[in-house]
Amino acid sequence: MPPETRPIEQACYWLAARPRSESAPLEGRHEAGLVIVGAGFTGLWTALHLKRLDPSADVAIVEQGIAAYGASGRNAGMLAETIDHGHELAVAHFGEEEARRLASLGRDNAAELTGFLESHTIDCDFERTGQLHVALHDRHLEDLRATEECARGLGVTNLRLLSREEVRAEIHCELYQGGLFNPNGGVLDPVKLVDGLRRVALAHGVRVFERSQVKAIANDGAGVVVRTKFGELRAKRAILGTSAYTHHLLPHLRHRFIPFYDYIVVSEPLTPAQKDAIGWKNRAGVADVRTFFKYYRLTKDDRVLWGTSEAKYYAGNGVGPQFDHSEAQYDELRSSFAQHFPALGKVEFPYAWGGPIDATTRFTPFFGSARGGRVIYGLGYTGHGIGTTHLAGKILAHKALDRRSDLFDLQLVKKPPFPYPPEPLRGLAVNLVSKALRRVDAGHKPSLLLRALDALGIGLSS
Ligand SMILES: Cc1cc2nc3c(=O)[nH]c(=O)nc-3n(C[C@H](O)[C@H](O)[C@H](O)COP(=O)(O)OP(=O)(O)OC[C@H]3O[C@@H](n4cnc5c(N)ncnc54)[C@H](O)[C@@H]3O)c2cc1C
Repeated sequence: MPPETRPIEQACYWLAARPRSESAPLEGRHEAGLVIVGAGFTGLWTALHLKRLDPSADVAIVEQGIAAYGASGRNAGMLAETIDHGHELAVAHFGEEEARRLASLGRDNAAELTGFLESHTIDCDFERTGQLHVALHDRHLEDLRATEECARGLGVTNLRLLSREEVRAEIHCELYQGGLFNPNGGVLDPVKLVDGLRRVALAHGVRVFERSQVKAIANDGAGVVVRTKFGELRAKRAILGTSAYTHHLLPHLRHRFIPFYDYIVVSEPLTPAQKDAIGWKNRAGVADVRTFFKYYRLTKDDRVLWGTSEAKYYAGNGVGPQFDHSEAQYDELRSSFAQHFPALGKVEFPYAWGGPIDATTRFTPFFGSARGGRVIYGLGYTGHGIGTTHLAGKILAHKALDRRSDLFDLQLVKKPPFPYPPEPLRGLAVNLVSKALRRVDAGHKPSLLLRALDALGIGLSS
């Protein structure tokens, strides 16, 4: 197979799927009440929450590519209720009381999001399939039981443990040893979601400028000016919805998150015989329970999307089109797919791409401001942003309008995450921790390093 070199707009199944409309770039001088940088989920939800809170708000969005150019157009499209990346991690990082609150917030947040899709007739192929977590080793069964018990303790009572037979009846994979099914959440087409949000934002008077990279943000009296190559826009405040790219505009934030690249391959449509061979009648999005897990789902036209959370860090906090492909990751993805479903024989994967995620040490987003409150930001979804960006947009909109919100009491809003070390230590630390975590995934006990990180509250192996 020749190495993948296509630009993301052709290599990514969602982006390549159909022609899309785009807005004009920012040229000349403009003004707005509030300017949002980034037309991904965060930027668009923030704009929509702003217009809901204050219909007269004058909002403009400036995007370097086209809407959905970033992670929002490249993800797996698996909508989960979690905003904390798992109940046990939430308890470890924030304590039981807040974990309980996050669990119920996550549920309400996903319901609000899907309610918005219905009330604004956004057709993004959303299927309420639920989510299935699968155990590949006996040890994972204990993890699933612990997750279910922890969830129940926090008031989440709808998770169902599945036996080996039950989970294999659902999806015919001989590697499965058991499962945990959450009937909530589902799968969607993320680019159709972005397009729908953009359409509603435009209809509410939000201006969107595309293909306009913000090169600098400067103070302008009590407000700000954002500058692109051919234009500038003055506003009272700027809101950054720039996720893994945020350090390009606010370099000091690189201590608070690490940009990683996740990679995905998408198959040709399965034939009816291939579908029969694997079952998957209920079409749930699946993830296994390793630290570096595989996640997968069916698309509307019955392709398999197969992704890996074994994300790649590129030295110096690298983010950009040069990292959009990794042949090593694609090889590994194709071979893990074949191990899971040998009955399918040779399946071609005509789409393959990567996208940047923004990881924090506590796996949840964080919020803050710069330039004396003229610039506010929210980022750090750690690969789980489809639902959480809706909540983050609400937080950012309240902050931008100086409105009070109960959400401001959340620790994840009040407290920044424990920082990552700077380079050159950063690259070294990522390698060491990844190696140690891979050993745990292979069935070994957590090393001293991982136990030390756990004790500091920044570990992954708990
Ligand atoms: C491969 C992959 C799989 C994933 N799978 C899932 C999943 O199944 N479920 C889930 O919940 N989450 C998933 N995620 C995570 C999810 O996609 C993200 O958390 C979410 O999209 C973040 O949205 P965002 O708007 O904050 O960031 P982005 O979508 O990255 O948006 C940031 C935008 O800012 C723009 N921008 C940046 N800098 C500038 C600048 N200087 N000037 C102008 N514009 C700028 C970018 O072009 C981009 O469009 C996945 C992510 C990846 C990469």
